[in-house]
Amino acid sequence: MLPKELLERLVVPPGKSRVRLDDYDTGWAQTRELEELGKQAAKERAQDMLRQNIADLSDAQELLYASSQQSVLIVLQAMDAAGKDGTIKHVMSGVNPQGVQVYSFKVPSVEERHHDFLWRYAKVLPERGRIGIFNRSYYEDVLVVRVHPGLLDEDTKAKSFWDDRFEDIRAFERHLVRNGTLILKFFLHVSKKEQKARFLERLENPKKNWKFSAADIAERSYWNKYMEAYEEALAATSTKWAPWYVVPADHKWASHAVVADVITSGIRGLDLKFPELSPEQRKALENARNQLRAE
Ligand code: AMP
Ligand code: MG
Repeated sequence: MLPKELLERLVVPPGKSRVRLDDYDTGWAQTRELEELGKQAAKERAQDMLRQNIADLSDAQELLYASSQQSVLIVLQAMDAAGKDGTIKHVMSGVNPQGVQVYSFKVPSVEERHHDFLWRYAKVLPERGRIGIFNRSYYEDVLVVRVHPGLLDEDTKAKSFWDDRFEDIRAFERHLVRNGTLILKFFLHVSKKEQKARFLERLENPKKNWKFSAADIAERSYWNKYMEAYEEALAATSTKWAPWYVVPADHKWASHAVVADVITSGIRGLDLKFPELSPEQRKALENARNQLRAE
């Protein structure tokens, strides 16, 4: 487990009127403990923790699935190349695929645009016992469309348009939590410098060319506008029931360790129990066993 003090520093405090992303480290989120270790040792420590967390997550998920009481919604948001896909691949590598549903949200279809903005997300929420991962989410509806208001038909000039959406999101999440969903939201916080390095790697390594899209460069030129939109969204929607974690993402080992840790402790905190058999069910098992033995 990562030091509690470190994880607490990554949470956006609910009710904060202003969030500054510059106050959050994109590096390796050093605590005094990790700092004393030095970077290489911290990396090895984080990788050990990730291995342990992957194993623990597998157990936690089995219990979630067996008890079928609660669901888990994981929201991943980030700038391009911050590592959303890799985080899903690594953190979820030990879990049973039957219990996980991943949805990657792209530009909405015409049908989706003809509904309220939460419609397409509400349709694919995880059922009880499952982990649902949103690779991008309804937060795009206060991020990319805020940076590019031309994408929407509505009049978005008034600030109240966005405040209304924030209110809708808070209420939507409150509703889900009250109905048995654990919501964990991660903003993978990568620096502009590291994004450049990863884009160059995608351009120069033939095996990674497919990951690059020409639109990525265009979006990069809106970096400051995105940061402002993220800051507002994080401040408005980090709540006691669904807090945001700002995860340092310049080193993949750091972001994977943090995300795995928060998910594992989150599911453990649900205090789930394997279903207990009633006396009748126990009797039925006993009968079945006797029948098989007698064959
Ligand atoms: P990627 O995740 O890199 O495959 O890209 C998906 C693209 O879909 C990104 O450019 C997003 O900005 C875009 N996208 C996702 N959700 C929305 C949305 N609600 N409205 C507009 N664009 C979106
Ligand atoms: Mg992309």
